[in-house]
Amino acid sequence: MHTIAVTGGKGGTGKSTIASSLAVVLSEQKKVLLADVDVDCPNDHLILDVERKKLVDVFQSIPQWEFDKCTKCGTCASVCKQNAIVAVKGKNPAFVPELCIGCKACIVACPVKAIQEGRKKIGKIYSGDKYGVHLVSGELKLGELASGEMVVETRKVADDLAKKNGFDIVLVDSAAGIGCPVIASLHGTDFVVAVTEPTPSALHDLKRVLYLADHFRIPRGIVLNKADMDTGFAKKIEQFAKNHGIPILGRLPYRQDVVKATIKMKPIVIYDKRYKKTFIDISNTILRGL
Ligand code: SF4
Ligand code: SF4
Repeated sequence: MHTIAVTGGKGGTGKSTIASSLAVVLSEQKKVLLADVDVDCPNDHLILDVERKKLVDVFQSIPQWEFDKCTKCGTCASVCKQNAIVAVKGKNPAFVPELCIGCKACIVACPVKAIQEGRKKIGKIYSGDKYGVHLVSGELKLGELASGEMVVETRKVADDLAKKNGFDIVLVDSAAGIGCPVIASLHGTDFVVAVTEPTPSALHDLKRVLYLADHFRIPRGIVLNKADMDTGFAKKIEQFAKNHGIPILGRLPYRQDVVKATIKMKPIVIYDKRYKKTFIDISNTILRGL
């Protein structure tokens, strides 16, 4: 089983558009599980028009106080980097659960063991099927902050399912950016597909996400989306890729078809068959690089 991550740094480059169509094309020759770990805004189920069913709830560790033991020393508040605990002199500490990310530092730091470990629900993991692709989709509860933890749990559920059911490929549709959720998305994968577009901000973020792939020593390639939006800047990205020995896996044009496909809730390779060859070429290049 191989794991391929589709990421992009900057949001809006077309990462989920590419991931969903790649999954559909790959599923014609492999058993593919698409793991949507863009847990703040998962949308692969909308692109594929999958009716998701809940698999599991996801919980996070949370502190619970035994105030009869508390000496009101304030240590728990001072170690909480999230400012989820407020110490008021002479009073029990106040807790803001929405800010807690479950790091357990307060539990470890309390000198009189007045804090126990509890748990709170932070999200749900769903699944569904379409076009021969099995989708596992993680969704963080509104207002919760533990995106990284949610990504880890979604990947764990996806990996277990894939191993148990003999899947060949887990395709991870990562979160945007380069923070903790993206690190959790890329860690342990076999290939990184970095989706970009010809704009300065996209190139800036592409460099950062490729730095992450290099840090984890993961083979990587670039998909240049909306390539004809600015041909001059596209050449700049191609030159950057050449200078760093990074293959361009494929180029996609800037067309309204993609918007129309999204409105119709169809992956672009299903909505317009002319895109299929490009995706077959991209998937074959990735499979050769595994
Ligand atoms: S560290 Fe423990 S004893 Fe000190 S204020 Fe927090 S809960 Fe109370
Ligand atoms: S578990 Fe971590 S984030 Fe949550 S209140 Fe304790 S120290 Fe703060």
